[in-house]
Amino acid sequence: MLYSHLFGKTKKEVKKYDSISHQLLTQAGFIDQIAAGIYNLLPLGKRVLAKIENIIREEMNKIGAQELEMPLLHPKTFWETTDRWQTVDVLFKTKSQYGQEYALAPTHEETITPLVKKFLKSYRDLPLALYHITKKFRDEPRPKSGILRGREFGMKDLYSFHQDKNGLKNFYQTVIKAYLKIFKRCGFNNVKITEASGGSFTKKYSHEFNVITPAGEVNLIYCQKCSFAQNIEISQLDPKKNQCPKCRSNLKIDKAIEIGNIFDLGTRFSQAFNLIFIDKNGEKKFPVMGCYGIGTTRIIGAIVEISHDDRGIIWPKNIAPYQAHLIGLDLKDKDVKNNCDKIYNQLLKDEVEVLFDDREEATAGEKFADADLIGIPVRLVVSKKTGKKIEYKKRGEKETKLLALKDIINQIKN
Ligand SMILES: [Zn+2]
Repeated sequence: MLYSHLFGKTKKEVKKYDSISHQLLTQAGFIDQIAAGIYNLLPLGKRVLAKIENIIREEMNKIGAQELEMPLLHPKTFWETTDRWQTVDVLFKTKSQYGQEYALAPTHEETITPLVKKFLKSYRDLPLALYHITKKFRDEPRPKSGILRGREFGMKDLYSFHQDKNGLKNFYQTVIKAYLKIFKRCGFNNVKITEASGGSFTKKYSHEFNVITPAGEVNLIYCQKCSFAQNIEISQLDPKKNQCPKCRSNLKIDKAIEIGNIFDLGTRFSQAFNLIFIDKNGEKKFPVMGCYGIGTTRIIGAIVEISHDDRGIIWPKNIAPYQAHLIGLDLKDKDVKNNCDKIYNQLLKDEVEVLFDDREEATAGEKFADADLIGIPVRLVVSKKTGKKIEYKKRGEKETKLLALKDIINQIKN
């Protein structure tokens, strides 16, 4: 991609937002706010989201889940069936001009359960795991921190159906492992799992996946060594008096962002919709259900919160919008310009995702500042000075090296 063609440029203004991710993502041209809690994802942001979604998709498919897509507009009757039209406080409600009322989906138990009911017959059809990656809505009273807490946001939600509690228990553990893989691949090295009550969504047990950062909205007491954590509101532990119950390391209290959650739904929804199957003994039973969410757009914000410096974002390789940021200096010089074009085309040919800052009028200082702000993992500089070689530098490191193009391609690919 040529930077001169890229829609959504960096901004010089340094307006103070209420979170670092909101500020950097806006300034670097990844997101654009249209109203409180509602955002456009610009092309750079959309590329990051697509990478996160693909990682999730791969790990979901590996555990045997099947992808589908359900609507966001839910008839009121579905939510009355589960008694949640009045009880979910963040439910967005809307009315058609023809009189029908709808919910804008904050979750999809109300559509997945009646859908499965149309196809589920016997225990042979179980276990079943279905997911989709779409938008969600929450009628959030105080949207804040950019895409960390919006009224409309991206989410992956998975629903599983089992013959009994044991079936759910096993799959629940499989999902925990898959989630830890997903978060690691996205660039989170230290995700804390807490056991929590499910709030208005369910009264059964549930787990939350949290990332420690000052921009977070929950307070966790957590182990500095292992993944142990508890929400401070329910915890009996005190970091001054107690050690980690799992590994005996020291405990600490900090703020955290929740990036994923999983719930044991029991038979709450299968009963509400009278979803039944015939078991081995020919008896009618309600399947036991689980629900598993990951906030996809929230992951973008959470990564920026934990991975940045005073110059800008530092994207983990796996979710960076591009792998290389090629900067051409002295582009009014024909030889340098030709050399740059050649390098750019070779990178494309070798399938290296590259953003090429091809602006002739911008200064070297502006180009370097923009590269740091945007945060692509590798910066490549071509100028009169670099001659036949290319200056290679990793974002977040100071050291630069002069390398041949083929070595650079090898470095990026491995
Ligand atoms: Zn521990």
